Amino acid sequence: MNQSHFYNWYKLTVCVTNCCDQKCLMCQAPLEDKNTLNRSIIIELIRFAARNGFKEFEFTGGEPLLLGGMPELIDMACRSIPLVQLTTTGLRLNDALIERFSRYRNLFLLLPVDGIGETYDSIRQMRGGFERFDSILKKVLGADIPVVLNTVVQRKNHHELHRIYTYFSSRAIMFHGFPLIEHLIGNDRERLGPDQAEAMLSELGRIEDAPVLGRRPVPITHRLRQWYGKRLYDPGTTMHSGVRCPVPFRNLIVTAAGFAIPCWQHGWRLDEGFRGLRVRNIEAVVNDKRIQDEIRSAVGESGCRGCATFCYNWDADVQHDIYGSRTERFREHLLRKATG
Ligand code: SF4
Ligand code: SF4
Repeated sequence: MNQSHFYNWYKLTVCVTNCCDQKCLMCQAPLEDKNTLNRSIIIELIRFAARNGFKEFEFTGGEPLLLGGMPELIDMACRSIPLVQLTTTGLRLNDALIERFSRYRNLFLLLPVDGIGETYDSIRQMRGGFERFDSILKKVLGADIPVVLNTVVQRKNHHELHRIYTYFSSRAIMFHGFPLIEHLIGNDRERLGPDQAEAMLSELGRIEDAPVLGRRPVPITHRLRQWYGKRLYDPGTTMHSGVRCPVPFRNLIVTAAGFAIPCWQHGWRLDEGFRGLRVRNIEAVVNDKRIQDEIRSAVGESGCRGCATFCYNWDADVQHDIYGSRTERFREHLLRKATG
């Protein structure tokens, strides 16, 4: 079967490197074997996304800005794909990069901010880190670059989520997400347990009830809070059903080790000859009948048991909010740029 009938592509996420210049307490990346994608593979992926009508292309890491020539790759993606996301700590953005990125009409930054002041510094193990982040964020917003903030809910910040929300609520942020830390990215030490559930749920409730300032979308819903709670009381709870899961048909991820996988969570078969881009090209991988059969079986009755994804993709309403409001914010942003 041709991929145009099998897939309904939306987003291609490319983890260009898992190297990082940070040592966040909750992250496993600093402990992993170091891998960086070859530049020719990244270029092939940008062309593939453009040819196959992907709506979004994400560069992520580790820290993607550690990769030499990243601005040129971003140029290329911005010229050929409708929406381009750069997920970065922001700490490596200098005036020249901010000026360069401000010229794109379709680039937005996803910046992690897991605390303010001391909390940020202790999670990043970096004295003065928050002050630096905040001053860079002001410059980025001053240059009218669209920004999405992401706060991973974890032990060190679970009791001050409302404070983090409030700190940024008057800024021109497109979207502020509060995903729950999961074993996938998280160091177990920083994961929340039943003892933290009440405080965390109450903080999220305060955000849900807070007056919306400047129409900035924060996707906290009653249902999301309920599931976060269930997840903490019973870590076996899956928030996202595996049966008929749309994710493997809509999204494609390429890991820093060069494997093309449909989602982060399922135990996809990883071997070079099967889905390794160092050995096969991306067209060959996604069109391989064995890959498509594996996806069919993952979303079937006895396939994947579902996941507790930290990315909100499991909740159709929230996903609709995210993509809907993002599109709306982009429209406003473009209009503002066009009218000077
Ligand atoms: S969370 Fe992100 S910035 Fe922090 S160590 Fe992991 S990859 Fe680096
Ligand atoms: S792990 Fe299963 S339910 Fe979760 S995104 Fe992947 S296929 Fe869907």
